[in-house]
Amino acid sequence: MNKVVDLVIIGAGLSGLSCALVTGRGLLKVAILNDEQKLHGDFDTHNFITNDGQTKQSIFEKGLNDLKKYPNIEYHNNPVEDIALTLDGYLVTTQSGLKFEAKKIVFAMGNLFDFSDLGIDGLRESWGVSAFSCPYCHGYELKGKKISIIAQNESDVNFIKLVSRWSSDITIFIQSENYPQIEKSIRHNIENPVIYKDKILRLEHNAGNISEIVMVGGVKLKSDAVFISDINTKSNNLINKVYSSTVFNPQLNKEIYKTDSFGRTDLRNVFIIGDSRTRFSTLVGAANEGFLTGVMIVNDYVY
Ligand SMILES: Cc1cc2nc3c(=O)[nH]c(=O)nc-3n(C[C@H](O)[C@H](O)[C@H](O)COP(=O)(O)OP(=O)(O)OC[C@H]3O[C@@H](n4cnc5c(N)ncnc54)[C@H](O)[C@@H]3O)c2cc1C
Repeated sequence: MNKVVDLVIIGAGLSGLSCALVTGRGLLKVAILNDEQKLHGDFDTHNFITNDGQTKQSIFEKGLNDLKKYPNIEYHNNPVEDIALTLDGYLVTTQSGLKFEAKKIVFAMGNLFDFSDLGIDGLRESWGVSAFSCPYCHGYELKGKKISIIAQNESDVNFIKLVSRWSSDITIFIQSENYPQIEKSIRHNIENPVIYKDKILRLEHNAGNISEIVMVGGVKLKSDAVFISDINTKSNNLINKVYSSTVFNPQLNKEIYKTDSFGRTDLRNVFIIGDSRTRFSTLVGAANEGFLTGVMIVNDYVY
């Protein structure tokens, strides 16, 4: 039999957990459905005050623990497989066949990274250990180290400048033929850059700790870490079943789902928050988004 709740939240990262807390405390009946296998949380995180240096996994567990005292919030580690429209809301079906009916839906599913695009062996395994996209999150731990930056387009010049704040030992690897002006732009903006344009084949690493970059032709260069401003993401087939409006985000140079700043889509009862919306919210940002969206959802029942 279908279980009827007020709100289904898909994804229990910081955005989903935070949204569940606010809406649960707002006395809504909430189901939060997660895929713990996809959390990818076994790495240290930073810049989330009160949690600095904690793994994403441990922050997730603390968040889940906070929800336990609310009987009107139910959590299931049960990936969502399907979502369909009903007469007055949505029917959400999990992989194991649980069915939830709800008027409102929050997608808080994070990113589905696609590493295949770059074709660099070892990048996926090093992701979060010694390969990162956010220098604010991981630059401090790498200060003064040998850092490699994978540059993909002209806007990466600013990224290179930013990462250089934490280390002057920077090697730049241009890995895109689509932007012929990158090299010129880097040389124009950065003093004496060390640039390689050969394709990177693989990252030599031990349990994700990078030691060398291996390029086509067998050239090897020592490296302690890799920064890359953006990894491609796969389209979210679940969200696309109910919502597909996007807008171009010039900063990201990408299309993102069209929402207001509270994650509300053009469909009044459908929200998209956290990395699913922004591509990179940060932990504190995702928690904030979940909070604000939760407030909006409770307000909908009042005003
Ligand atoms: C390598 C790396 C390092 C980072 N380091 C930092 C850092 O140090 N500090 C910082 O502030 N930020 C850091 N970030 C960014 C931060 O982790 C994210 O911005 C933040 O976790 C986004 O939260 P979210 O709730 O949007 O998504 P997520 O935390 O990704 O959570 C999404 C959840 O949805 C679940 N899900 C996916 N599909 C389904 C489905 N079909 N059914 C049910 N559930 C599903 C996933 O399993 C996951 O649990 C880092 C990111 C990466 C990739």
